[in-house]
Amino acid sequence: MAGEAAWPEDADGGRRREDEHPAGDPPRHDPHKLHIPVRLFLEHLNYLQSNYRVISLGDFLRAKRENRRLPDYSVILTFDDGFQDFFSVAAEQLARRKLPATVFVITDRTFDYLHPNGEFYLSWQEVQKLAASGTEVGSHTCSHTSLLDLPFDEARRELEDSRTAIRDHISQEDLPLSYPYGQTSEAISKLVQSLGYSCGITGTLGPNGSDMDLFALSRTVIASDDDLVTFAARVSGLTWWASKLRQLFEQQEWKRMGNALFSMRRIERRAKF
Ligand SMILES: [Zn+2]
Repeated sequence: MAGEAAWPEDADGGRRREDEHPAGDPPRHDPHKLHIPVRLFLEHLNYLQSNYRVISLGDFLRAKRENRRLPDYSVILTFDDGFQDFFSVAAEQLARRKLPATVFVITDRTFDYLHPNGEFYLSWQEVQKLAASGTEVGSHTCSHTSLLDLPFDEARRELEDSRTAIRDHISQEDLPLSYPYGQTSEAISKLVQSLGYSCGITGTLGPNGSDMDLFALSRTVIASDDDLVTFAARVSGLTWWASKLRQLFEQQEWKRMGNALFSMRRIERRAKF
């Protein structure tokens, strides 16, 4: 599952945007490198089209429910935050390539809200047009507050109200959720499931194997400065393997440090005797 955003050329933009529409100003501040220049976005799409099978989140969930095996090299495209450029730039390019995607909207902002970064969000009218043309829509909660930072009842309200808002505007079989900041806990994931969401997507890096928890799905986030080689490495899982190796290496380092401390203490003790 890959998360993306794209902005028109030369800009850094929210999750995948596209070209040809020099619309809007780039976000002024993008510390997390989430806004992908259109030129790169198009390269990424072409690469995926040639090397992977891009399936919809709905197809993935149906296959899971029916216990069907997915084709090898299956990839799902997800776009968080519901920026307006998804409509004005990305959707057309995705449609041109017949690539399915899911956009996760922040329901309190779905009315041409202007973000402090200078970005607009999708309006409900745009969300409806996207849904009508086959884009899947999911919740990114009402306010985009991390669900871990909220009292449990407030987290429940965010999940219920955003679900209701989406259901009021579009009809769609499944309603997926993308956790704000990719953060969840066991209790929150259980709550999400109990409220009828079809899945929950985290920010945890990695592929989703056959034993995955549908309410703690992993994702590969694409950065605004990913060139094609970096992108290919991320999508192939190479970046994930590298992070696993780094963890192992660090654990070994800690073990070595622990052993060294233990030896020093023994020496100290011996010295005392
Ligand atoms: Zn977000």
